[in-house]
Amino acid sequence: MTGRGPQDGQARDSLPIFDRLAPPPPADVVAARIDVHTGPGDIVADLFGRGGWIARSAIDRQRRAVSLESNPMTRMLAEVVLRPPDVRHLDAAFQGMAASPLRESSLKTSIGDLFATRCATCGRALVVDEIGWQVDDDASIAGRMRPIERHYRCAVCRDQLGGSDHRQAALDRDDLRRATADVGADAMRSVLLARFPIPDGAEALPRELLDLHTDRQLVALGAILERIESDLRAAPVMATLRLALLYAILPASRLGSGPGRHAALRVTSGHVRPHTATRVSERNPWLAFEDGFRLVRGFVQGLDSGPYGPIQARLGEDLRSLGEGAATTFIGLAGDEGSAAMQDGPGGYGRTTPTPKIRLALGQSPMRPNLDRLAVAYHATSWLLGAEAASRLPIHALAGPSFRRSWRAEAEIIGDALGRVGPVMARDGRAIQLVDGGSEAVIATVLGGAQAGFRLLGVHTSDHVETKTSVVELLPPGGRLPPGARTRANVSLEALPGGAGDAFIAGSSGLFTPAERFDARPFSASDAARAVTDAAVEMLCARGEPAPHERLLGQILIGLDRAGQLHRLAATMMPADATGSAGDPGPDPVESLVVLIRDELGRPTQERLTEIEPGRWWLLDREDLARTAAPLADRVEWAAFSLLSTAGPMSEATFLERMGAMFNGPDLPEDGLIRACLASYRSQRAGSDQVTTDDDLLERSQEHTELLAAIADGGHRLGMRVWLGSREQTRRFGRGTLGDLLLNGEQRPFLGSIAPAIEDLAEVDGIWYVRAKVAFMFEVEWTAMLGEPLLRRHARIPPNDALIRFLVIAPERTDLVRYKLAQSPLLRAAIESGNWHIMRSDRLRAFLAREPLDLDDLEPYLGLDPEPEDHAEQIRMFEEGPA
Ligand SMILES: [Zn+2]
Repeated sequence: MTGRGPQDGQARDSLPIFDRLAPPPPADVVAARIDVHTGPGDIVADLFGRGGWIARSAIDRQRRAVSLESNPMTRMLAEVVLRPPDVRHLDAAFQGMAASPLRESSLKTSIGDLFATRCATCGRALVVDEIGWQVDDDASIAGRMRPIERHYRCAVCRDQLGGSDHRQAALDRDDLRRATADVGADAMRSVLLARFPIPDGAEALPRELLDLHTDRQLVALGAILERIESDLRAAPVMATLRLALLYAILPASRLGSGPGRHAALRVTSGHVRPHTATRVSERNPWLAFEDGFRLVRGFVQGLDSGPYGPIQARLGEDLRSLGEGAATTFIGLAGDEGSAAMQDGPGGYGRTTPTPKIRLALGQSPMRPNLDRLAVAYHATSWLLGAEAASRLPIHALAGPSFRRSWRAEAEIIGDALGRVGPVMARDGRAIQLVDGGSEAVIATVLGGAQAGFRLLGVHTSDHVETKTSVVELLPPGGRLPPGARTRANVSLEALPGGAGDAFIAGSSGLFTPAERFDARPFSASDAARAVTDAAVEMLCARGEPAPHERLLGQILIGLDRAGQLHRLAATMMPADATGSAGDPGPDPVESLVVLIRDELGRPTQERLTEIEPGRWWLLDREDLARTAAPLADRVEWAAFSLLSTAGPMSEATFLERMGAMFNGPDLPEDGLIRACLASYRSQRAGSDQVTTDDDLLERSQEHTELLAAIADGGHRLGMRVWLGSREQTRRFGRGTLGDLLLNGEQRPFLGSIAPAIEDLAEVDGIWYVRAKVAFMFEVEWTAMLGEPLLRRHARIPPNDALIRFLVIAPERTDLVRYKLAQSPLLRAAIESGNWHIMRSDRLRAFLAREPLDLDDLEPYLGLDPEPEDHAEQIRMFEEGPA
């Protein structure tokens, strides 16, 4: 045999099937949250584990971990992920299985006998890799297929005749006899059938699933499974071998299409959906098992060589055991069983150590179920773990044509799990759920939290295209809202017992009424709608610029939480297990809230908010607009420059982390902004692992003065009158000041002839004008902070046809200005209505250096795009390069 041996696999970092059933969380997000919210020794709990990944990250960071796994399959995966077996032990177990006695020979040889053949060329005795079957009618109906060809490997023929060892031939009489021989499949079938719990209304399904295999495939797979289960092995080794079998079952079935490959298993209305191939391959199950072993072995190797290095969790029997000694991890199943192990009750058997508290509940929301995923889980769980494990799945749904879970049920599942963990959480702990999906998924998580008495601290919804994960941060019952939380008037809440910061008191509804408990009043849609607008307006005022819908939603939910509305809405939900029997449960609260928020924001009579462009919201009311903060984009830019210029060289990761810590809540910037600021200000001379800036305030100030002087000179050469900003006039220039450059008649001009806003005009950096005819205004900026000049000062200078404005920016800011313009409808509108032209300072200098100076030559110097000369230069360089 010269095919790849079972030990030749490559390291890999994920497993097929689990990719779809339970995709792991983004590792960097998990690691960052563990670092921020816990210290070494603290306990991190994952309430909806998808294979122990979060626990693994926690243990890698010297924390202890609880992983309550979503289902028996992920629990089995967690055994491997948290305690990867030594590959030498795995190999020994595999070899031992192959050689284990079965009937008169060994397991591997017995299976080989079922698939025995002779080389069509040299007559040597061999084992077939697979038999090709022709499908006459329907592959799902046994008996309508004919074996037509065999594939095998003959090393003798390869050596003598050359070419590959892979051979294909028609079936001889012995092959045909073996293909349909009675191999005792009926007995094996009834043994295997007992592993499948029978779903109501889908009674035929277990048998149909077993009928996917030919008799000898079924007998062989069953024999491998018996061998895995009958030997005494360490749990991680056992789990690894079961997983290896998982990857053999479908390839060694009528859905098989080659080594390790198979068509998707589909179940609908209680039956296996027919597979419409005209040819299927009957793979030798032992080879399929070798393929599966190779794949899982590579996964185990990948765990050890991954970024975390080797990890060995030490398992305890419950939460309490994590406080008693060497145990670092508890693995359980979500639901009653797992929560029983978390309870803080009186310990039996003289256990006196107090149950340790959970500092951080961190996890992904439960996977949204669908029929395909359920079918795959039912099939795999029954085969690998048997009827008891598989009956924990919602198998009744297999009888139906589709399977969906309401958002209400989603919220209730989350609320139930959080409700169980709440009592054993540290008071200063956190619950953080990573949510995949849109507004409904976020709201379901938030409402689930409210149902369990958790308070909402933050919703960070990524606007990054690839990572659509939202992070919902919750405070456990009894915890204090941390300093930094703000009232709707944007005033910090103090954490006084029973005071405004007490997590269980909602703000009172009137000026003279005392604060009340949340549940004192029923949910009111009109109160909630008012809270939506209030929260959105406060958010936009604090942000100072339009916000994308997902950012707005996060702050609206926090506003609803602060106003007590989330808690009241959650109180209308029923306990998770009461649904179905309790009559009409009323409208889905998650969907209701989605609709309530959407309707309130877009209400025709809405006078305070507007969707300024699709998916982006801004203020309408004059009073609200008057009290907005400086635009977030400008504050982020200034913070980036300040950090770069004062903190000394640092890594890019440190920079991003420190910036992230400065801006959150309503000020959570869009993902690209911080990077755009960094790109604009970072020094090109520093190494790629160190960020710093070359920008220097003093140099920039001198540059500003010199450019204004050149502008003054240019205006005079053009025969126009010149004005320089009143504050700029006092700057030192040459032996005097900038103001000295103004001619006699220019020092006390009548600016009212240009426009009515005289005070604002006086602050414009530079103006060229011809009285009562035309004026050119220049604002010279070395930053890309356009809010002050464009949206404030010049907004007060009304536009007219004789007013032309130039925004002169440093060339290093070009891309950042471009980014801000793309993101801000306000800036774009201001540029448009104010008759602005953007110009790079180096181009303005080049224009002003022309002799003679003529305004007709200005056009090519305007804009943010590369100048034509640059193009010519680049093209020349390109042509001279290697062909
Ligand atoms: Zn041969």
